[in-house]
Amino acid sequence: MQDCGLKIGEYEIFWLNGGEFALDGGAMFGPVPKGIWSKRYPVDEENYIRMMASPMLIKGPNVRILVESGFGNKLTEKQWKIFHVQREWDLVVDLAALGIRREEIDAVVLTHGDWDHAGGVAMVNDAGEQEVTFPAARHFIQTREWEDIRHPTNRSGAAYWPVNFDALAASDLLTLVDESAAVAPGITLRLTGGHTRGHQVIFVESQGERAVHLGDLLPTQVHFNPLWVMAYDNYPLDVIARKQELIKKAVEEQAWLLFYHNPFLNACKFDVEGKLVEIWPPADSQGDVGKG
Ligand SMILES: [Zn+2]
Repeated sequence: MQDCGLKIGEYEIFWLNGGEFALDGGAMFGPVPKGIWSKRYPVDEENYIRMMASPMLIKGPNVRILVESGFGNKLTEKQWKIFHVQREWDLVVDLAALGIRREEIDAVVLTHGDWDHAGGVAMVNDAGEQEVTFPAARHFIQTREWEDIRHPTNRSGAAYWPVNFDALAASDLLTLVDESAAVAPGITLRLTGGHTRGHQVIFVESQGERAVHLGDLLPTQVHFNPLWVMAYDNYPLDVIARKQELIKKAVEEQAWLLFYHNPFLNACKFDVEGKLVEIWPPADSQGDVGKG
């Protein structure tokens, strides 16, 4: 973890360890032939590729917002194997390293309800009981996503797990969002759909500087091309349309694009052709994010 975060005006963004796993490269690059994507993303002999779950802490003058929550500490041994988990969830430890207790998080934003994003909102405590991980945080989820989470289908049930949401459902911490909402000054949410029906994205704007987290619409910088969608996307045509619109806007505004799954970069700025104009952490830093 870096000592200093990415500054966006009054806000500072830190990436934390929410777990590391490996996924099938073909699934992550959907319609793109392996001969093309494998030139740009390292792949092992079994066709697996490295993926992070890196929740972001957005620290403002009077607010601490967590975007995504990582795997949580409730995975079974079988799930560790299925998902090729390489590294455990240390979110609470990472927050402590920044001098923040989990009780001090004011808001949690979930782009969507898949286990690798939402697993950390409920945790097993020292007494072996399950509880909400961030007991003082309002948890922002799109209404449409919450409906789908609570009524999984035979496809979505593979990623929407009741164990991640039961404690939250029983609490008064859920803030359901219809289309758009403001979380704090300059921090707004917008429904996009695409990856899931109720997927949302987060915009950060402060003192003329901007960042946007496109969630699973843009898992890594290699997915810049709008047509490079994942086999995991439920509504790929919506992913393509939203990516086209939102990446164009980010390039025009010179906004940082923030990544959750990316083992190589935490954030970047693109030019119109998708070349990296600026990266975070900076290339000369000694952070623990590899360069592939
Ligand atoms: Zn994901």
